[in-house]
Amino acid sequence: MKRVAILGATGSIGVQALEVCAASPELQVVALATGRDRDGLAAAAAAHGVARTCVAADDGPDAVVRLVRECGADVVLNGIVGAAGLDASLAALESGADLALANKESLVAGGPLVLAALQRSGRRLLPVDSEHSALMQCLAGESPDALVSVVLTASGGPFRGRTAAELEHVTARDALAHPTWSMGAKISVDSATLMNKGLEVIEAHFLFGLPYDRIEVVVHPQSIVHGLARLRDGALIAHLGHPDMRVPISYALTYPERAATPARQLDLTQLGTLSFEPPDTATFRCLALARAAGEVGGTAPCILNAANEEAVAAFLAGRVRFLDIAALVTDALDAVPVAVVDDIEVVRAADAAARTAVGVRIGAVA
Ligand code: NAD
Ligand code: MG
Repeated sequence: MKRVAILGATGSIGVQALEVCAASPELQVVALATGRDRDGLAAAAAAHGVARTCVAADDGPDAVVRLVRECGADVVLNGIVGAAGLDASLAALESGADLALANKESLVAGGPLVLAALQRSGRRLLPVDSEHSALMQCLAGESPDALVSVVLTASGGPFRGRTAAELEHVTARDALAHPTWSMGAKISVDSATLMNKGLEVIEAHFLFGLPYDRIEVVVHPQSIVHGLARLRDGALIAHLGHPDMRVPISYALTYPERAATPARQLDLTQLGTLSFEPPDTATFRCLALARAAGEVGGTAPCILNAANEEAVAAFLAGRVRFLDIAALVTDALDAVPVAVVDDIEVVRAADAAARTAVGVRIGAVA
C-alpha cells in the first residue's frame, strides 16, 4: 500500500489522480490540497475518505508545505498550476517522499533547486507530464551513451496551421478549445501558444540531463504518440496511447509496478493516419522563446515562466490579446536581469520582477 498526497486535488490532474487512486487498492490517498475551491475539496475529501486537507487561500501560503511535511505520504502528486507549486515540490522531496510531478513550472522556475533537493533526498522524481512519462518509459534500460536525442510531441493546439494575421483576434474561448486534451485553463492557453511545449523542453532538460540541442519537438495532431527516444543505432522508440492523463498519473503513482487504469486500450486498426510536421516557431514564438531562455539558463526560465503566467491571466481576463502573450514574455526577458539559481530567494526575486515587468507593461498599454 502506497500513501499518496494529491496537491491541486480539485484541478484537471488532481481529479484524474483521485480516479486512479480509487481504481487501485494499492494506492491510499492521505492528504488533499487546493488553491481556493473549498467546496470541491470538501466533496473530494468526503468521497475518498481523506481526513487531512488544506485550502491555500484560507489556511495561508505555507499551509500546503506544512501539509506535505506532516502527512507522511510515500508519494506526493503535485498537480498545482504555476510556479506556486515550487515550494511544495521542494517540501515533498525534503520530507522524504517521491515526487510525482505534473507541475512542470516547478522545474522551469527552480530546476537546479529541485534537482539538488532530489539528490539530497535519495527519492524519485517521476514525471506526470505525458510526454516526459513516455520518454522515461522509452529510455528504461537504455544506457545514456546510446541516446542521441529525445522527441517531444505537440498536438499543435487549436490554432495549428494559422498565420499570425489570423491569430490577431482569437479569444480566450477559442484558445480553450483544445483538440485532443481536456485540461485546466492555463495549460490550455499554453498549448495554444506552444509555450506549453517550450516549458516541456526545459522540463526535459532538467529531468533527463540533456542539452537543448538534443531535445526535439515535432507536431503530431492526433496526440497518440507521446514521446520518442532516438538511439544511436538508428532505432526510434515510441510510446503510444490514447490521450488520457490517467495513464502517466498511474505510472508515476505505482512505479515501478503497473496497475490497471480506467483508460481505454488503443486499437491500432481504428487509428487512421498518424501525421507529423515541424512546429511553426515563427508564428508560435513562445516555443522559441522558451528554448532560448533555457539555453541562457539561470533565472531566465523562471522569468519566462512568471511573465507567461501573468500574460496568460491577462489574456484570460480579456485584458490583452493572444499575440501579446509572446510580446509580454519577450519584454520581461529583456527587462529583468538573469542571475544564477543558487537559492530559493533568487528564484522568488526573479519571479516577482518578471510579474512586475508584465504588470507595468500591461498598465502602460491598457
Ligand atoms: P487546473 O487549473 O485544472 O488545476 C490546478 C489546481 O491547482 C487546482 O486544484 C487549484 O486549486 C490548485 N492550486 C492553484 N494554486 C494553488 C496554490 N497556490 N496552492 C495549492 N493549490 C493551488 O490545472 P491542471 O490542468 O490540472 O494543471 C496542473 C498542473 O499540471 C500544471 O502545472 C499543468 O501544466 C500540469 N499538467 C496538466 C495536464 C493536464 O492534462 N491537465 C497535463 C500535463 C501537465
Ligand atoms: Mg505535456
